[in-house]
Amino acid sequence: MTKQVRKLPIRLMMRFSDPLIEQRFLPFYEGFYRSYAQASLVLGMILVVGDWLVDHLVFPNVPANEYRIVLSVPILGLGLALSFSRVGKRYWQPLMAAVIVLVGLSLYWTLYRIDLQGGSGLASWVGILNFTFFELYCFVILGIGFRYALPTGFLLFLGFEVSILTALTHEIEHGSYLTYHVFTVFLLAAMIGWWREYLLRKEFLALVELEKATQVAQSQAEYLSEHDAVTGLHNLTGFIAVLDRKMHAAIDQHRTLPLLLIDLERLRRVRDAFSQKTADELVRSLVHRLRESSILFQPSPEFARVSSFEIAVLFRHVQETAMVIEASERLLDALRQPFQLRGQDFYLQPNGGLSMYPNDGDSAEATLKAARAALAMHANEGRFLHFYNADRDSALVKRLQLEEDLRVALAGGQLSLAYQPLIRVSDRAPLGVEALLRWTHPSSGLIVPAEFIPIMEELGLIHEVGEWVLNKACEQAVRWQQSGIMLNEIAINVSGLQLADPGFAGKVSSALTRSGLHPRILVLELTESVLVHDNDAAMAQLSALKNLGLRLSLDDFGTGFASMMSLARFPFDIIKLDRSFVQAAPSSRVAAAIVEAIMALATRLRMATIAEGIETGEQLQYISALKCDFAQGYLFSRPCSANEVALLLTSNRLSSGVSNGHDIELTG
Ligand code: C2E
Ligand code: CA
Ligand code: CA
Repeated sequence: MTKQVRKLPIRLMMRFSDPLIEQRFLPFYEGFYRSYAQASLVLGMILVVGDWLVDHLVFPNVPANEYRIVLSVPILGLGLALSFSRVGKRYWQPLMAAVIVLVGLSLYWTLYRIDLQGGSGLASWVGILNFTFFELYCFVILGIGFRYALPTGFLLFLGFEVSILTALTHEIEHGSYLTYHVFTVFLLAAMIGWWREYLLRKEFLALVELEKATQVAQSQAEYLSEHDAVTGLHNLTGFIAVLDRKMHAAIDQHRTLPLLLIDLERLRRVRDAFSQKTADELVRSLVHRLRESSILFQPSPEFARVSSFEIAVLFRHVQETAMVIEASERLLDALRQPFQLRGQDFYLQPNGGLSMYPNDGDSAEATLKAARAALAMHANEGRFLHFYNADRDSALVKRLQLEEDLRVALAGGQLSLAYQPLIRVSDRAPLGVEALLRWTHPSSGLIVPAEFIPIMEELGLIHEVGEWVLNKACEQAVRWQQSGIMLNEIAINVSGLQLADPGFAGKVSSALTRSGLHPRILVLELTESVLVHDNDAAMAQLSALKNLGLRLSLDDFGTGFASMMSLARFPFDIIKLDRSFVQAAPSSRVAAAIVEAIMALATRLRMATIAEGIETGEQLQYISALKCDFAQGYLFSRPCSANEVALLLTSNRLSSGVSNGHDIELTG
C-alpha cells in the first residue's frame, strides 16, 4: 500500500496508477459531492431567478432578461432531475460537465443580448461574477474530476471570450481588461480544484490502506485463532471445526473417521532441558516427518497440533481397523527414529491413542476424548499404540495389539526360556533339555509360542529373537555344566526363516564360540517345512551347520509334507515323532502303523528317535516297546525354569525306572 501512496501522482491530470483503486475512487469522490452538487444546482436556480428579478425591476425594458427563465433555469432543473436518476449517477462526470457548460453558454448569450438591449450584461462586472460562479461550480462544487473539469472550465473560458469579443468588437481595451480578470479567475478556480482533489485522493489512499491493514489483521487473527503458530497446523479450535465438517460428510457417506492422537510427552522434557526454541524446531521436523511418511496415504491425513505436546491425525485414506492400526504404526515408527538437531540425537518416544468416529464418540470432542482415553491406557500396559474401541477384543485387533506388544517385549526383557527335560527311555535318565521360548506379558500374563512366533516371523523379529534364544540357551548349558551337571544335549527350535538367513550358520558358530559350549551338545530342531521350500539352499545351510559339529533334529515329523526320500537326503541326526501320533498310536491302528514305519525308517537310516508329548504310562510303554530311544512329555516334567530343571537333571531318573549313568550320546 505504501507503494501506492508514493505513486500518488503529483501530475496535472490526476489518476491513480492502480486502475482498481481509480475505479473505486470515482464513486467515492462523486458520492462525497453528490448532495452538495444537487444543493448547488438548486442554489444556482435561485441565483439565476434572483438575477432575473433584479434586472426585471432595474431594467424593465430589456426583454433578453427573460432568457434566464426560459433557458438557464430549465437546464439547471433538468441537470438536477437527472442527477437523481440512475443514469445520472452512473455518468456523473459528463452530466455535470454538460450542465455547467450549457448553463454557462446560455447565460453568456443571455448577457450578450442584455448588453445589446442596453442592460448590464457581459461587459459589466455581472459577466465576471457569472464566469466566476461557473468556474467555481465546474472545478469545486459539482464533483467533476479534475481531468474533466479542466477542459470543461477551459471551454467556459473560451465561450466567455468568444461572447465578449463578439460583443465588444470596438472596445479592445475593455475586452483585454475583462479577459485578464476572467483568466485569473479561471486559474484560481483550477488551482483550488486541483488541490482539493489531490487532498481527497490522498485521504482516499489512507482509507484504502487502513482498510487493507484491518483486513490483514483480521484474517491474521482469524488464522491464529485456528492455527498453531509454530507448525502452521490447525490448533484444537481449527481441528474441531475441520472434524465437524468431515463428520457431517462421513455420516452422509456412512463412513467412519479414524483419529490418531500422538502423545509427545518427551517434548516437554526437551523444552525444559533445552529451550522452547529447540522444542519448536523439533515439532517442525516432526511434522515434516509425519508428512513424509504419509506421502502414500491418499487422500492425505489431516494433521493438527491440538496441544503443545499432542498431534492429532485424522486419517482419510483408510477406515478399516486393521489398516488404521497399520497406518498409525507407520507414523509412530517414523517418529520413533531419532531426530538430529545441532549435532544431537533426540528420541521422542511417541505413544498413540486411536479412536473412531462415530463408534467411539458422537462428536468431534467425544472422539478426541476417546483417543485421549486410549492414550492413557498405554501407561498401564506399556504399549505404544492403543485402540479405544468397543470391538477391541476382536481377533484382529488383538492380533495387531500383539504385534505392537511384541516390539515392547523384545526391548523390555519380557522374554525368557523354559526347559523341558529329555529322557532316555531305557532307563528314564534325564540326558538333556529342549529350550522353549516364553513371553510374560505385563497384563495378559504368559503367552504361548504358538500365538506369538508366527507374528514374529511375519514381522521379521524372529531373527533377532532366535539369536537371543541361541545365545541364551548356550550360556545356560555351559552354566549347568560348570556347576557339575552332566548335560548331553540342549535342543533349540529354529524357524524356517532363520534357516533361510544366509548368515545363520555364522550366528550359531559365534554363539558356540562366545559361550564355549561344545558343538556336540547343541541340537537344532527344524520342522519339515524347511525341506519342502528351497531344497538346495536348505541343503547348503544344513551342511554348513553340520560342519560346525552340532546335530540336527527333525521336529514334528509326520505332520508336514516331507517325503521319506527327502528325509534320507538331508543330514538329520534325530527324528522327533509328533505328539499327535504318539498320543493316538496306542488306540489307533493307522497312527500305530505310521509310528512303526517311521521307527523302522529311523533305524535303517541310523537316526535317533524321540517321542514327544508322553503324558501317560501307556504311551511310554508303547514307545518303549517300539524301541524308541528318547521321550519328552508331561509324564516326566513340564517345561520349567533353569533352576527347577537343574534339580531334575541332577536326579538320576525321572518318573519310575532303572538308574543309569549319563554317558550315552543321543545319536543312533
Ligand atoms: P515343539 O518344538 O513341538 O515343542 C513342544 C511343545 O509341546 C512345547 O510347547 C511343549 O510345552 C509342549 N509339550 C511338551 N510335553 C508335552 C506333553 O506331554 N503334552 C502336551 N500336550 N504338550 C507338551 P510350547 O512351549 O508351547 O511350544 C510350542 C512350539 O513353539 C514348539 O513346538 C516350537 O515349535 C515353538 N517354539 C518354542 N520355542 C521356540 C523358539 O525358541 N524358537 C522357535 N522358532 N520356535 C519355538
Ligand atoms: Ca521342538
Ligand atoms: Ca515337536
